[in-house]
Amino acid sequence: MSDKKEVKRLVFASNNAHKFAEIRAILGADYEIKSLLEIGCTEDLPETQDTIAGNALQKARRVRELYGCDCFADDTGLMVDALGGAPGVYTARYAGEQCSPDDNIALLLLNMATEDNRKAHFSTVIALIDDDGEHTFEGRVDGEIAYRRHGNGGFGYDPIFIPTETGVSFAEMSADAKNAISHRGRAVRKLADYLSCGKKK
Ligand code: IMP
Repeated sequence: MSDKKEVKRLVFASNNAHKFAEIRAILGADYEIKSLLEIGCTEDLPETQDTIAGNALQKARRVRELYGCDCFADDTGLMVDALGGAPGVYTARYAGEQCSPDDNIALLLLNMATEDNRKAHFSTVIALIDDDGEHTFEGRVDGEIAYRRHGNGGFGYDPIFIPTETGVSFAEMSADAKNAISHRGRAVRKLADYLSCGKKK
């Protein structure tokens, strides 16, 4: 009998290399995480729900339906208090379907130009489907929208999001420092806890 630990296989419904690196670093060598391309899925997964959790579940359900494997999907939104929770589910395409991250930042700064209440939060929901059913894990980070861009690191809205815990923008932090407090880092660690203890916290 071999005492080698069995590697658990999971599909992550994404092809985003940055997210894979982060997730593999947190989950470690006991898990083999496959991308959509690695399992031959070239379909644009649907994201038509009106909540972050709804979109994450919708993508995971589609992969489960097509391939029958244990899988998870994520979705992230930036919710700004003064804008009634916008951009929310439209975070990626706030300035239009073909917009760049810089277009999104420019529009958000414009819409916030006269607002004193700068409070906002990022939320990531990871939806996992395994043989025990559907599970969701949320990670959240609170902060403020800056009045202008700060820093060159990160991606998306990083130059204008200042987490309360650090007082400097995500784009001014190292990747490790950001992962330690970020919405996605927190959601992934909850997923890792579930996978390692087999129960939801
Ligand atoms: P997704 O669901 O992870 O693709 O995220 C949706 C959108 O949220 C992205 O296109 C980015 O604009 C934004 N976003 C997600 N995570 C971050 C982050 O860590 N920093 C800044 N923007 C982010």
